[in-house]
Amino acid sequence: MTYPVHEIFRSFQGEGTHAGAAAGFVRLAGCPIGCPWCDSADTWNAAAPKLGRLTPAQILAALDTTTAGAAGGQGSSRVGGVHAATAGAATAGLTAAPPSRVIITGGEPAIHDLAPLCDALRARGTAVHLETCGAFPLRGAFDWITVSPKWRALPLAETLARANELKLIITAPDEIRRWFDHLATTISPFPIPHFPFPNPPNPFPISAIYLHPEWSRRADPVLLAAIADWVSAAGDPWRAGWQIHKNYNAR
Ligand code: SF4
Repeated sequence: MTYPVHEIFRSFQGEGTHAGAAAGFVRLAGCPIGCPWCDSADTWNAAAPKLGRLTPAQILAALDTTTAGAAGGQGSSRVGGVHAATAGAATAGLTAAPPSRVIITGGEPAIHDLAPLCDALRARGTAVHLETCGAFPLRGAFDWITVSPKWRALPLAETLARANELKLIITAPDEIRRWFDHLATTISPFPIPHFPFPNPPNPFPISAIYLHPEWSRRADPVLLAAIADWVSAAGDPWRAGWQIHKNYNAR
């Protein structure tokens, strides 16, 4: 089994419940959805992955052949032939351990059978996190699932049933209500009870629903006010989201 790999790097999770936590990233190539504001459109073509096709063992080896610290001031270290692993002066002497969590992202990673990669990571004790739009059946065992639904390919109910958090990309103020109305007909019961979950019992493990301003509109005061007002009024599990890694100029 091989995967079309766009890039592999070490950084930290910049979004959601695990924001700020160190992680290895495996960005797979291929996505058929074509969101107009996609910030990773260079991953769409699975037939021409930047790093070629790699086995799970090769992916694990690439994750491990980096050192802790910044690469070129980017706040992350890329490996696998894109950038040589480097260590900034501030982190000299630190011993790089294999990442305790790895985030599989894309592109849309769920178009691939992720089971062999998940098995290889989990066999050595690495937690596997997935970032997916949710529109494709999941193949693999995951420790954390982030679903970021897209209007062009709505998430499957079976995938929402496995999601730990939702990340909604908000491009206009009225889009929050549109997502609420859609999710309310897809997830039952809804709204989801307060964190921590479940109390009372609920078949869905979703603990948070993040509202992210679409990045090109992150300074739009009307959009930001709409998110702030919604979260303030609706309460848990709604969260105001942000991509903090971009403030750190990290991957
Ligand atoms: S689903 Fe994700 S990777 Fe695919 S086009 Fe949309 S934002 Fe980009």
